[in-house]
Amino acid sequence: MNIHAPKPATLKPATPKQASPLIDPFGRAITYVRVSVTDRCDFRCVYCMSEDMNFLPKGDLLTLEELDRLCSAFVVRGTRKLRITGGEPLVRRDIMKLFQGLSRHLDSGALEELTVTTNGSQLARFAKELAACGVKRINVSLDTLDEAKFRAVTRWGDLSKVMAGLDAAQAAGLDVKINAVALAGVNEDEFPSMVRWAHGRGMDLTFIEVMPLGDIDAARVDQYLPLNRVQAQLAEVFSLEGSDYQTGGPARYVRVKETGGRIGFITPLTHNFCESCNRVRVTCTGTLYMCLGQEDAADLRTPLRASESDDLLNAEIERAILRKPKGHDFIIDRTSSTPAVGRHMSVTGG
Ligand code: SAM
Ligand code: SF4
Repeated sequence: MNIHAPKPATLKPATPKQASPLIDPFGRAITYVRVSVTDRCDFRCVYCMSEDMNFLPKGDLLTLEELDRLCSAFVVRGTRKLRITGGEPLVRRDIMKLFQGLSRHLDSGALEELTVTTNGSQLARFAKELAACGVKRINVSLDTLDEAKFRAVTRWGDLSKVMAGLDAAQAAGLDVKINAVALAGVNEDEFPSMVRWAHGRGMDLTFIEVMPLGDIDAARVDQYLPLNRVQAQLAEVFSLEGSDYQTGGPARYVRVKETGGRIGFITPLTHNFCESCNRVRVTCTGTLYMCLGQEDAADLRTPLRASESDDLLNAEIERAILRKPKGHDFIIDRTSSTPAVGRHMSVTGG
């Protein structure tokens, strides 16, 4: 299939008939796939990467056409939500062609949501195009509103570019959710002001516990801030009301009475959310991780490249889903100095 063709031409042939959905050994239907389209990034966030990263040779990456084929194979098998992530997905060359191609699954109704997680640095350039491809909601990662702190956390980032990106996204009609990693001693004094800022702009704000993924230059235990403490701190400032709002992701939400907005909490460490996991992750080399927190993986690039038909690919996906583990075993304390898994978050994407 040629994903470079204008959208109507890519649409027609190719939303094949749906096959039976993918169900894992614990009865969980796999309906959500996160696809990392590059391991590269224009930032070097201190909790995500080390300053000196070795990136994959470009030749190891799946082409955009191969990524489209892979995503489409999952859509045929019942994936309803596709999240494009990275590394920084919007720094991959010609990435809009992937969004344009995949939007045919939204048009056909096979896919419910096509979305992206981004650091926002390139949004001013791409927000309109994303909206034109049927993207409705996006996650933007932003850990601090303080310019100097932003530079320190991201090492290379420029807060004003992200702010311009947020303006462009909202002007294009995209619903924006802000994700902030809770970092001990870094941004914990800002949480109430971040809530007011995000809700004042009509954006939900989700906090994330730092996860022990990949070797970084700092000690995880010094970064880790359990979110039950964050919630307790916020409850002193705001009236937090329970909410059964769900986005299909792992966050649980509360509503803030004073602002009318929502705060999400993603708590892989203090409250394991694996029992309701509906997700798998594919890297930019076509490696399928059945769990973010485990090493087991399946190579989908070989079957993808071995044949023009998707039969081998589908068979490998089915075999892999039957190995999806019950959950992860993250732990951060003074006694465990090695990461739970060796790969960085930028490999599997958030
Ligand atoms: N570059 C994009 C971004 O930052 O949004 C997408 C990829 S990034 C790996 C996805 C999300 O993972 C971001 O929200 C980031 O803050 C989060 N993240 C990265 N490393 C993490 C870690 N060790 N623990 C928890 N979250 C992490
Ligand atoms: Fe890049 Fe996102 Fe990792 Fe930050 S969190 S280094 S923006 S991939």
